[in-house]
Amino acid sequence: VSPARLLDGRKVAAAVRAEVREGALALRASGTVPTLAVVLVGDDPASAVYVRNKDKAAREAGFEVRTLRLPADAPQAEVEDLVARLAQDDGVHGILVQLPLPGGLDADRVLELVDPRKDVDGLHPSNVAALALARPGLRPCTPLGCIELLDREGIGIEGRRALVLGRSRLVGRPLAALLLERDATVTVAHSKSRDLAHVVGEAELVFAAIGKPRLVRGAWIREGAAVVDVGINRLPDGRLCGDVDFEAASARAGAISPVPGGVGPMTIALLLRNTLQAASALAGERA
Ligand code: NAP
Repeated sequence: VSPARLLDGRKVAAAVRAEVREGALALRASGTVPTLAVVLVGDDPASAVYVRNKDKAAREAGFEVRTLRLPADAPQAEVEDLVARLAQDDGVHGILVQLPLPGGLDADRVLELVDPRKDVDGLHPSNVAALALARPGLRPCTPLGCIELLDREGIGIEGRRALVLGRSRLVGRPLAALLLERDATVTVAHSKSRDLAHVVGEAELVFAAIGKPRLVRGAWIREGAAVVDVGINRLPDGRLCGDVDFEAASARAGAISPVPGGVGPMTIALLLRNTLQAASALAGERA
């Protein structure tokens, strides 16, 4: 068996980002400076890294970025006031609240204050409902990134048996909805699912979003399946790995995304595309 083709998220993300940059420059030329506001509460080191990467990528793509920091002990009202002000601010086109918020803060109440038109993470209840109802709206970036990776690598979705492992609000649920929108036959599995090996073995497209290092064994993968690994797990030696046993799965899969260098870069690229979409729509409304 020939080893799986690598689904190179870095390469594909670079192509998406180049397209977004053209769109952002065109908006600037027409008088709108597309602007992303990033809200970071507290000093979680992983969140700080994510925010720095998003900030850098957004600037490279031709956006203005305003990073707004609040201390970990900021009261709920202060976080809400900040987000509400950004929602009102005509100079801001995209709002991203970096999650998780420090313990004690109610993230749902904060997210509800984001203007749905600026909700570049696709987590506002209006956008969640729009996805469930198959209406237009802003969609979550990581699920969009998974789909875009397959599309740009020429892997078909329509009519195929797709398995989503995980049912979180951030990844699994919206990904399942997007796949359904794209006419896949969708199964969702989670921690209560029985006989994962069998369920995985049925799937032509496997999306793993669990957060457990190498939980998905290579031997479970159907011969020729496409595997998209969303998981980001830190091993005791400090290295990152996905939710899929990459080495073993590569021997059976037709195509597989690595960790790092797979879905991670795609997530940032689709955040930028969402920001462009939001800025273009808002500029159009105001024209
Ligand atoms: P999460 O909220 O913790 O959800 C994990 C899901 O996996 C839950 O639905 C859970 O089931 C399910 N699960 C847990 N153990 C399982 C098992 N043994 N068998 C089957 N399902 C199991 O995590 P998340 O936010 O969706 O993130 C998932 C992973 O993706 C994490 O590693 C995260 O770091 C990574 N991630 C990566 C990106 C990226 O840009 N690449 C973005 C977001 C997240 P229950 O619902 O039954 O509890």
